[in-house]
Amino acid sequence: MKGIMQRVSLFLLLAIGCSVAAGETTILRCDRMIDVTTGALLRNQMITIVDQKIDSINTFNAPQSDTDVVHLKDMTCLPGLMDMHVHLISETGPSNYSNQFRLDPADYAFGSVKYAERTLMAGFTLVRDLGSADNLAISLRNAINRGDIRGPRVLAAGKSLATTGGHADPTNGRNSRLRGDPGPAQGVVNGASDAAKAVRQRYKEGADLIKITATGGVLSQAKNSQNPQFQMDELEAIVQTAKDYGFKVAAHAHGAEGMKRAVRAGVDSIEHGTLMDAETMRLMKKNGTYYVPTIIAGKFVAEKAEIEGYFSDLVRPKARAIGPMIQDTFAKAYKAGVRIAFGTDTGVSAHGDNWKEFVYMVEAGMPAIEAIQSATIVAADLADKADILGSLEPGKLADIIAVNGNPLEDIERMGDIGFVMKDGEIYKHAKVY
Ligand SMILES: [Zn+2]
Repeated sequence: MKGIMQRVSLFLLLAIGCSVAAGETTILRCDRMIDVTTGALLRNQMITIVDQKIDSINTFNAPQSDTDVVHLKDMTCLPGLMDMHVHLISETGPSNYSNQFRLDPADYAFGSVKYAERTLMAGFTLVRDLGSADNLAISLRNAINRGDIRGPRVLAAGKSLATTGGHADPTNGRNSRLRGDPGPAQGVVNGASDAAKAVRQRYKEGADLIKITATGGVLSQAKNSQNPQFQMDELEAIVQTAKDYGFKVAAHAHGAEGMKRAVRAGVDSIEHGTLMDAETMRLMKKNGTYYVPTIIAGKFVAEKAEIEGYFSDLVRPKARAIGPMIQDTFAKAYKAGVRIAFGTDTGVSAHGDNWKEFVYMVEAGMPAIEAIQSATIVAADLADKADILGSLEPGKLADIIAVNGNPLEDIERMGDIGFVMKDGEIYKHAKVY
């Protein structure tokens, strides 16, 4: 009876997401565990967590003390997943464009609370938010860090940097009375000095990294989805200034010319990379530039482009042309040996569906273990967190998830997350033994 009561109280504790007191020890028993450093699948492992950190990992042995053991039965333990490209503030829908004239920033902010929680419950314990208006993702990050709401660790870019009329110019598609002439404060730059100022503005606003739109894009109210939109001096000013402030630079790009300019200027990642050619792949390998594919976003917009009225007349043909190509580009880049970090552009597709990218990656020829590595140990490097996150090792922060079943045998298992721990705190657990 006492045993049952203990289990019930432990369950209640877990259900509400207990906060970790100083010196608190948690023991996880993992029927399977993936060591993402070696790629090995280990059986019957015991992870001991003290406060926020992994203290030790051994083959399971019933502990001498009366410490409760959380048995993750028939689950596979993994480091918390990382998505290098999301937008937590919204989700694509047919009224997205008109929403910005009807909704206040506070409406978006409250809406994003559920997106952040869904992301965490899907096993993603760290995301890069690559672009939000009104610094909403920065405020969301702060609310999560304070413990006000539940969500992943967020690295926020704040407002994306674009050129006038470019992808992420916030006034694209508006009439002449509403268009105005946005500048570096709004993330619109023309010339090297504007470019440096826009980076410094992001620093002032508390961003964690810089996002630029190196070419046209699909979902902006503008004609071209692939032309280069920055000149070399502007790109160099952005990268140089970003380095001064310790920022990584993520570059949205579909067309090859804009991609090459961004890679030559020294950006850290190319996002989407749709029309990446062999020369760009060579340059990326030489410079160590990461590719963040976002296959799911391409598939999502291609599918929605078939629905009458879903996108505007400017957006629809771009979505049809660009969307279906990303998976093939991914397959080529993988074969060519370009470094690939997991990213989905979620917010285009539905929050919580981030895992489907794993299925598309495996479908295109990447082994399941490498797809998982791209979202853990590899992503941790791009996110500059490899010293504290990205693998299950003593000394690292306890961001640990468990998948029901074995994702190395069936990658679709990545959509069935049974357990989520972030910073030593349990947020999700389907069963307690
Ligand atoms: Zn994006």
